[in-house]
Amino acid sequence: MNILTPFEYFRPTTVDEALELLATKENAKIIAGGSDLMIQLKEKMIHPSNVIDITHIPELQEFKCEEGKGAVLGACVTDAFCEFSEELKAKFPAFSYAAGEIGGPQVREMGTIAGNLANSGPSAETPSSLICYDAQLVLAKKGSERTVDVKDFITGNRRNILEEGEMIKQIIIPEPDPNTKVKYSYVAMRRMMEIDIANMCIRVDLDGDTIKDARCVMGSVAIKPLISEKVPEVLRGTKLGDEEVILKAAEAAQSEVHPITDVRATAQYRVDVIGALVRRILRELAAENK
Ligand SMILES: Cc1cc2nc3c(=O)[nH]c(=O)nc-3n(C[C@H](O)[C@H](O)[C@H](O)COP(=O)(O)OP(=O)(O)OC[C@H]3O[C@@H](n4cnc5c(N)ncnc54)[C@H](O)[C@@H]3O)c2cc1C
Repeated sequence: MNILTPFEYFRPTTVDEALELLATKENAKIIAGGSDLMIQLKEKMIHPSNVIDITHIPELQEFKCEEGKGAVLGACVTDAFCEFSEELKAKFPAFSYAAGEIGGPQVREMGTIAGNLANSGPSAETPSSLICYDAQLVLAKKGSERTVDVKDFITGNRRNILEEGEMIKQIIIPEPDPNTKVKYSYVAMRRMMEIDIANMCIRVDLDGDTIKDARCVMGSVAIKPLISEKVPEVLRGTKLGDEEVILKAAEAAQSEVHPITDVRATAQYRVDVIGALVRRILRELAAENK
């Protein structure tokens, strides 16, 4: 039955108050949009004694995007905000697009990017693009703060480096070089309210149409976002759009993934999808660079 296990509910209005609660209340869980957490509570996957709602803290709703300085998102900035923000669409199109592909409109109005990261699901939509943009997280606990790279944050299936009493306070996305192009794509069973069979983000740092450097991050094919070692090796020094290179890059990515078979896809289908995503993204990047 979907009756929740009883817990104490707290609604702090400042970050300090939230951190004090996290430091003093035992077995506490943060709730932001609740789109992941409420399911876990209903399914009795977790049994927190205390639930701390951070959505009434004005500082965590703040968003800044300044020319030359990149963007800073408070932890309660929603998926929908990132989908529709003109500044994010212009500066970080792959991230804005990924945010807009989470669930459906109602889920995105409630869900937050920090929640998407902290939930640390293997098929989460936003980590791969944030890693491609070199994003960082400000993690806060009572009396201290640290800044970590998103690439080092998720350590496994629903596992991350958050310590007891620690929360994501901000997401920092540095200003990308104008010659850096980033693209996100995914394959799923339907257009909305799905979980990705596989997703991918590729970044290329260009000099004209020559790829100086590249990054490829794959989702839903391992217990955490998989950063390819071989795809950048194949792409470095080549011309963007070279069909022979594109095929080699696809094979390189496929050789690195060892996905599982589950209700959404077989392992072999996921490997096929990874090849298709590399080909699709690189061809689209090349077409846009003409
Ligand atoms: C129908 C449906 C479809 C969905 N489809 C997708 C999809 O396509 N792609 C996808 O990636 N996700 C999907 N999701 C999952 C979810 O909507 C996103 O992960 C969302 O962005 C989570 O944000 P939230 O604010 O709701 O997190 P919550 O549910 O509030 O929290 C999730 C977890 O993060 C922790 N947390 C939240 N904020 C913080 C913080 N600031 N610091 C530390 N810990 C924190 C919570 O304690 C909890 O463990 C879907 C969910 C539903 C219900």
